[in-house]
Amino acid sequence: MHVPMSVNHFLDRAASVYGERTAVVDEPDQPAAPLTDVTYARMRQLARAQAAHLDSLGIEVGDRVAVVSHNSARLLTSFFGVSGSGRVLVPINFRLAPEEVKFIVEHSGARVLYIDPELTSLIDEVQAEHTFVLGDDEHLFGTQDEIAAAQPRPWEPDENAIATINYTSGTTARPKGVQITHRNIWVNAVTFGLHAGIGDRDVYLHTLPMFHANGWGMPFAMTGVGAQHIVIRKIDGAEILRRVRDHGITVMCAAPAVVNAVLTAAQDWEGEIPGRGRVRIIVAGAPPPTQTIARVETELGWEFQQIYGLTETSPLLTVNTTRAEWDDLSPDDRAGKLVRAGMPALGVEMAVSESGEVLARSNVIMQGYWNLPEETERTFEGGWFHTGDGGYIEDDGYVTISDRRKDVIITGGENVASVEVEDVLFSHPDVTEVAVIGVPDEKWGETIKALVVVAEGATATEADLIAWCKARVAGYKSPTSVEFRDELARTATGKLQKFKLRAPYWQDRDRQVN
Ligand code: ATP
Repeated sequence: MHVPMSVNHFLDRAASVYGERTAVVDEPDQPAAPLTDVTYARMRQLARAQAAHLDSLGIEVGDRVAVVSHNSARLLTSFFGVSGSGRVLVPINFRLAPEEVKFIVEHSGARVLYIDPELTSLIDEVQAEHTFVLGDDEHLFGTQDEIAAAQPRPWEPDENAIATINYTSGTTARPKGVQITHRNIWVNAVTFGLHAGIGDRDVYLHTLPMFHANGWGMPFAMTGVGAQHIVIRKIDGAEILRRVRDHGITVMCAAPAVVNAVLTAAQDWEGEIPGRGRVRIIVAGAPPPTQTIARVETELGWEFQQIYGLTETSPLLTVNTTRAEWDDLSPDDRAGKLVRAGMPALGVEMAVSESGEVLARSNVIMQGYWNLPEETERTFEGGWFHTGDGGYIEDDGYVTISDRRKDVIITGGENVASVEVEDVLFSHPDVTEVAVIGVPDEKWGETIKALVVVAEGATATEADLIAWCKARVAGYKSPTSVEFRDELARTATGKLQKFKLRAPYWQDRDRQVN
C-alpha cells in the first residue's frame, strides 16, 4: 500500500533507529532543558508535545504557524512539531525589520507566532492571535508532565499538503510565500542526501539559516540518516573553524560570502586548519568566485561542492558530480567542473528557453506562491518552472548560471553578466567584496559600475581596478566607474541585494530587463 511522504518519516526513523543518539547540540547560551543535547527519541517526544499544544490552542490542520528565530534546536524541532502535525510552518528571516516580519505574518495569515528570545522587542510591533517566546517552553511544548503524556491529534499525512511557506529572500522584489509540500521536502532531502553522500557518521554544522529554503533541506536529510546537528547562531569565520575543531564537523552548507569569511579567518588561525580531508562544504545561493573554489581546496583542505537551486525548488536543482568521476580528473578539469553549477540532480529535468532563461521540472518544485495566483501562473508558463536565471547547458549536461536575468547589464546593446565582472574584480588582491551593477547612461542605456570593499591598507585606486578589468575582459564589460564602500547590502544568507544597491541610481526611472 502507498504511504504518503511526510516530514515525519525523517524524525520517526531517526527516533526508532538512533533513539539514544544526541540529535542536536544547541548553543550553550540557549534556554537549557528540555533541549540541551537532545536525543532523537526526545526530539520526537518534544515534536509530539508541540503538536498537542497546538491542538489545545485550536490550531487546525493547514493553519499557519510562524517562527522568527536564529537557528536553534527549538526551531529544528518545530519543523516536525508544526509541519509534522499538518500545520504549515512559516520560518521568517530573523534579520528582517519589524514591518517586514509583520508583512509576512499578516500575508501568511499566521495564527501563532514564536519569537526568538533575542528578538523579543519585536513583540511590541508584531503579534499573531497567539504570540510566544521560543525559549518559553510551557508555550511551546507544555509542562514536563504534558510532554511525557503528549497525545497529539493524529494527522493522516497527505504528501501534497503544504508543509512550509518560505518567503523568498527578497534580493529582487518583495518577498513571495513559496509553498513547499511534504513531497517536495521529502524528495529534496533524499536526493540532496544521496548526492552529498551523507550518512549516520556525519556531523552537520548549521551554518545556513534554517528559515532559508528550509536550511536547504539538510535539516531533514541529516535527521533521516541519524546524523548529528550542531547549531550555530552567529555566522563568523573563526567561530565556524572552532566548531569544526570542537565537534568533528563533516558537512556544512554556505553561500560564497560565508566561505570567504572562513578563508579570511583561516589566515589568522594558529596551527593546523581543522577538518582537513574531512569537511565537505556545499556552496550555493550565488555563483562562487573561481578564486574561492581554488582556495577551499588549497588553504583549508576541505572538499568543495556546488549546488544550484531556489527557494521555489526546495532547493536542489543541480549538483556537481564528485567522487569517482573526480578522482580521474586533473586539478584543472576538476576546477572547470566545480565552477559550473552542476548536473541536474536525480529526477530534475532542465532546459533553457529561447530567451536564455533556465527552466526546470521536477518533484522538488513548489506548489505555487501563497495567494499570488498570477505570479504563480507566470512562473509556470508552458509547463516549466521559470527560474529567473540566465544560463546554458553544455553538451556534457553541465548547467552554468550566467547571471540573474534582472542583474544582467545591457550596455550599448551588449549583455554583460554582472557575475563575470565581479569574478575578475574579486581576483584583485585588494578586493574583499564586490558588486557590479548597471547604472543609467545617456549614451549606452546602462553603464557598468563596480561597488567594492577593499582590504585594510589597500592602495588600489579606481583607475587601477578599471585597468585590472580591461586587461582581463572585453572593454565593454569593464566598469566605467568604481565606488569604494565599507560594506554592501546583503541578505541574512550573505547574498548581495543588488536591487537595493541599484536603487539610488535609478530613482524613478524604469530599468530594461532581459
Ligand atoms: P528573491 O526571489 O526575493 O529575489 P532570492 O531569489 O535571492 O530571493 P533564493 O531562492 O534564496 O531567493 O535564491 C535563488 C537564487 O540564487 C537563484 O535564482 C540564483 O540566482 C541564485 N543561486 C543559487 N545557487 C546558485 C549557484 N550555485 N550559482 C549561481 N547562482 C545561484
